[in-house]
Amino acid sequence: LEAKEEFSHKTLAMDVMRPRRSDPPLSVLTQDGMTVEDVETMITETTYSGFPVVVSHESQRLVGFVLRRDLTISIDNARQRQDGIVSTSRIFFTEYTPPQPPSSPPPLKLRGIMDLSPFTVTDHTAMDIVVDIFRKLGLCQCLITHNGRLLGIITKKDILKHVAQIANRDPDSILFN
Ligand code: ADP
Repeated sequence: LEAKEEFSHKTLAMDVMRPRRSDPPLSVLTQDGMTVEDVETMITETTYSGFPVVVSHESQRLVGFVLRRDLTISIDNARQRQDGIVSTSRIFFTEYTPPQPPSSPPPLKLRGIMDLSPFTVTDHTAMDIVVDIFRKLGLCQCLITHNGRLLGIITKKDILKHVAQIANRDPDSILFN
């Protein structure tokens, strides 16, 4: 098939997604392994608009996606209004919250603020398809997986930069016409 060579040069989701090889790893939340303090630290040490939630760092199985804004509001609210929520309270994105040891503070349940089905594509998906999906579905971000493991993220701004790059390389591109 003639299209084959062309296809092998095509940009794939893995070429555009973050993190890049040299970047620090993706900032993710685990569904039941973090304390209020852990999450607050993550919020202050990063500027990302959102965080994927995974089963565990080992599995990297995607559970959902949480917006930074919703995390901040929920934690602030809980600290002010919910009895017993302190830095060492454990945060749960799971449906079921196991009983906490008697000496521990009450858990903070945040499943309600999680998007349970964030849009995902595999790392081998061609970027023209990803761009098309962003446009048609009006996505803000898309998560990238490989064999069910979370690898990276592409935001709307990443898409806009990618499209601008292509237009630069090929000034006759109809993308901006
Ligand atoms: P924007 O792309 O609109 O600036 P963000 O601030 O969320 O949105 O993301 C900034 C950059 O960091 C983007 O290139 C994005 O792909 C990447 N990114 C977004 N979320 C995360 C995350 N949780 N961990 C690592 N990188 C991320």
